[in-house]
Amino acid sequence: MPGVRPIYTSCAIPECRRLVRAWSRYCPKHATRLTRYGDPLVMPLKPKEWLPHERYVADAFARYASRRGTQIALDLAAGVLAYRSVHGFTYQLEAEREFRRLTDAGVTPADLLRRAAVFYALLKHRPGRFGDRQKAEDINLGRFVSRLAPMSRRGNKTRSTSYRFIGELVREGCALWAGALLNTMEREAVEARERVRASGDLTMEAAP
Ligand SMILES: [Zn+2]
Repeated sequence: MPGVRPIYTSCAIPECRRLVRAWSRYCPKHATRLTRYGDPLVMPLKPKEWLPHERYVADAFARYASRRGTQIALDLAAGVLAYRSVHGFTYQLEAEREFRRLTDAGVTPADLLRRAAVFYALLKHRPGRFGDRQKAEDINLGRFVSRLAPMSRRGNKTRSTSYRFIGELVREGCALWAGALLNTMEREAVEARERVRASGDLTMEAAP
């Protein structure tokens, strides 16, 4: 019936029996996750999820730092860090403040690129991590990037719409390069395995 709001008494998440928060389809726990992480079923990123990717991304970055593609990506990342609000909307101002906080803390375009690559390495490893939702992915990327520098005050007030915008800017500036880096690393690993396999075959003639 139009105009009549369905009444939910327990959380809309199956298996969750908790009572809903007023005017919400979800219980307090799932409502908080929805606002904070963009999806009621998305959990915050834990260091043990992304730390394993940090070392090899740093190594790969060092190996490809002088490539033209990386130089272009560094320029794009510098542009993201230098973001200035266009219309003065709250999410723009908060994004500007966050990027300023990061640069003040010494975060460089290379740091931003590496961070984005770690995020996408994690996503490549666990494709459904954010429930296949772009919004949840962007919010979590924004939060992940913001944590490159310790939070300035207790209880950071940045809204999830602002984190989403930060995530969008980082994705637009860094995702293509990060994907190329991860694909190149994958290809190199395959080639290295092929070489090892070939070393066990002594019937092949050596290349002239
Ligand atoms: Zn619930």
